[in-house]
Amino acid sequence: MANPSTFVVPMGIPQASVLISGASFAGLATAYWMTKLGYRVTIVELASGLRRGGTPVDIEGETIEVLSRMGMMEAVRTKTLPPRDFEFKDENDGTLGGLKASSSDDLSARRYEIHRDDLLDILFEAVEGSVEMKFGRSLTQIEDGPTGVTVMFSDGSQSEYALVFGCDGNRSNTRNLVFGDADASAYFMGGYFYLRVVPDTGLLPANRTEVFSVPGLTAMLNGYEDRTDIALAFRSDRQIDYDYRDKAQQRRLIHDHFDGLGWKVPSMLAYVDTDGDFYFDRANQIRMKSWSKGRVVLVGDAGYCVSPVAGMGGSMALIGAARLADAITLHPGDHAAAFQEYEDKLRPFVEEVQERAATDGMSLLFPADALELAERNRKLIEGTIDL
Ligand SMILES: Cc1cc2nc3c(=O)[nH]c(=O)nc-3n(C[C@H](O)[C@H](O)[C@H](O)COP(=O)(O)OP(=O)(O)OC[C@H]3O[C@@H](n4cnc5c(N)ncnc54)[C@H](O)[C@@H]3O)c2cc1C
Repeated sequence: MANPSTFVVPMGIPQASVLISGASFAGLATAYWMTKLGYRVTIVELASGLRRGGTPVDIEGETIEVLSRMGMMEAVRTKTLPPRDFEFKDENDGTLGGLKASSSDDLSARRYEIHRDDLLDILFEAVEGSVEMKFGRSLTQIEDGPTGVTVMFSDGSQSEYALVFGCDGNRSNTRNLVFGDADASAYFMGGYFYLRVVPDTGLLPANRTEVFSVPGLTAMLNGYEDRTDIALAFRSDRQIDYDYRDKAQQRRLIHDHFDGLGWKVPSMLAYVDTDGDFYFDRANQIRMKSWSKGRVVLVGDAGYCVSPVAGMGGSMALIGAARLADAITLHPGDHAAAFQEYEDKLRPFVEEVQERAATDGMSLLFPADALELAERNRKLIEGTIDL
């Protein structure tokens, strides 16, 4: 059997095997590239299938270039959502300012929006059949050795791989197993958010986002042809001790903060109270000293979550996977050099996006106090805000 650490895959010998933990944007994109580079790829995903749901993904700039290189841009275009207006509202539903949907033909200014599930399907179709999928399982142990990484799966089986890619999101299992200190890299941004996607509510026209803020509280609606996103966010200086399995407690937290608020909030709260899946979490980023250790490397939210506030978590995962593949191509047979190159080249961009989200992004979407809100509204009225 070939040494699993073999990088360049000579003709006629078995391909080196790599393992990816997580089958979302980072995991599927990494699988695409590694397969293309000649590796045999296995993906382990905790869920029993692809994890669906969530708000649409923005595709612009380098992400367009990456998806074009992956041969997926045409499929993305066919699923692109109509452009959306963005409006900041006051209590009487008056518009303070915003941004009209762009109808520009300038390719460099192009921004596409696609439902998260559609992009997930496009990525999955590209790798389905050429990678081994292990759904409903997870890693319980990762041991880096001189010739490869030995991993233990939750079903008790064990295997060795040349490389392991941690693509398992904000609460990455790979990060916890390999880098330890579960929460040390999580940067709390000072708030919590609730998100629920429901069939069209009629609360706003299709193809529009509306945002209403008072100090410390923001309510946001995204309207599409067939559905509405209900998003509620509150600021908190400290982290709240809550049980992530206790949905009733999370609903209560939302009520504690939003009861009595005007605009369309009472109608939004009615959806908080009805049965159905919703997402509630702290707003946080992942800021690590290093994204790799030995033969294990992190991609996407696992290594450098930029937070939903940045509005480009999906893009960053796709860019990360492509940059990593470029680095591996540049340093065949030398994973240490490849991982260093990947991090050196991408880190400045990640840090810039994280910084902007933690400062301007937070004060634009979730003003913490009256002063921040007044400053934001002044800029909106002047039209000097950069969305
Ligand atoms: C269901 C869902 C809904 C989302 N909705 C939004 C949204 O509305 N707005 C937004 O800004 N961002 C959302 N996100 C996050 C967004 O998808 C990411 O920021 C972005 O896509 C980066 O992708 P990623 O692949 O790095 O991480 P993620 O998309 O978070 O994917 C991580 C994957 O790893 C899997 N995983 C987790 N633990 C393990 C484990 N122990 N073993 C194996 N696999 C594991 C997860 O099931 C998931 O498939 C959502 C993520 C998920 C999973």
